[in-house]
Amino acid sequence: MKVLYMKPDTTLYFKEEPKPVPAGGQVLIRMAYASICNFDIMMWKGTAAYPPDGRIGHEGSGVVEAVGSEVISFQPGDLVTILPSYGCGLCEDCRSKREEYCSNIHANTGLMTEYVLCDQRSVFLLPPGLGLREGCLTEPLMMAMEAVRKANLSDGANVVLMGCGAMGQIILKLVRRHPVGKLMVIEPDAEKRETALRFGADFALNPDSGNIVSEALLLSNGRGYDAVLEISGSQASAKQALHLAARGGSVVFFALYGMNFELNVNLFSLYWKDITITAVGVPSGVFPRALRIAPSLRLFEVITGMFPFDQAVDAFEAKARGGHAKVMLAFPGAAEGR
Ligand SMILES: [Zn+2]
Ligand SMILES: [Zn+2]
Repeated sequence: MKVLYMKPDTTLYFKEEPKPVPAGGQVLIRMAYASICNFDIMMWKGTAAYPPDGRIGHEGSGVVEAVGSEVISFQPGDLVTILPSYGCGLCEDCRSKREEYCSNIHANTGLMTEYVLCDQRSVFLLPPGLGLREGCLTEPLMMAMEAVRKANLSDGANVVLMGCGAMGQIILKLVRRHPVGKLMVIEPDAEKRETALRFGADFALNPDSGNIVSEALLLSNGRGYDAVLEISGSQASAKQALHLAARGGSVVFFALYGMNFELNVNLFSLYWKDITITAVGVPSGVFPRALRIAPSLRLFEVITGMFPFDQAVDAFEAKARGGHAKVMLAFPGAAEGR
């Protein structure tokens, strides 16, 4: 089987390896789709930590090929998606229902491979109405749900999303389901601004034209936004986020800004505005709920690029050039599934 690897100098290359055999509670999955996350692009560009085993990919779906003797809920032919990280179940955090802080976390972060072995605890059946292509996006959806939870939306809240790439688009779909007030998107790419309006944003502004902060504030009648979600990963945008928040509002930093970026915060204005600043870590317990809502979200709409697995390098290049929302890799036989 073919496996995608990254060298420490971040060169991507394929390696031929024997197909693994599942034992005990392991499930062998024939991958159908794997999608490229901005985090993968950051690793590739050297702005996020290099994966220790050189294997990449944490968003994927596939078909169960074989199962170990202790696997109870899966059988060959099942369509599944994979939870990228799960706790050991034994440490103090896991036993306090804080699995996301597990000190011995297990990771399925090598999904860009034709076959992958996963512990049954990290495998989830796709519900009816959710195909393999969209099922691959369960992990990004889980993260989007966590971002929206942290934004603490109240009815009638004015919301601004800074950035409307794949994550911004999924977050937009979720926010649109809340009875919010004005929903503003700030995004430099004209095509993505159009997508934002199509997905239900009230306004879509270009941060590169004029004074974006005063323009956006004006459109909120000077009040600012009760929820500001920074999803772009732009350091300039991260600096603007606090200025857009209304009194009593919350600012959610969803994106990654490089490992050494530090944000200056005027603590007096934080106090005066009574703002809550929060970031989005990988949650636990959200994945099953993501699978419940995924079938109704038309997630396929955020996919703008599909490359065969053996053209993974082209896919990374296309994603890194910008312009794309979600770029996916399709494995041989992907389309045979639902
Ligand atoms: Zn991801
Ligand atoms: Zn643990």
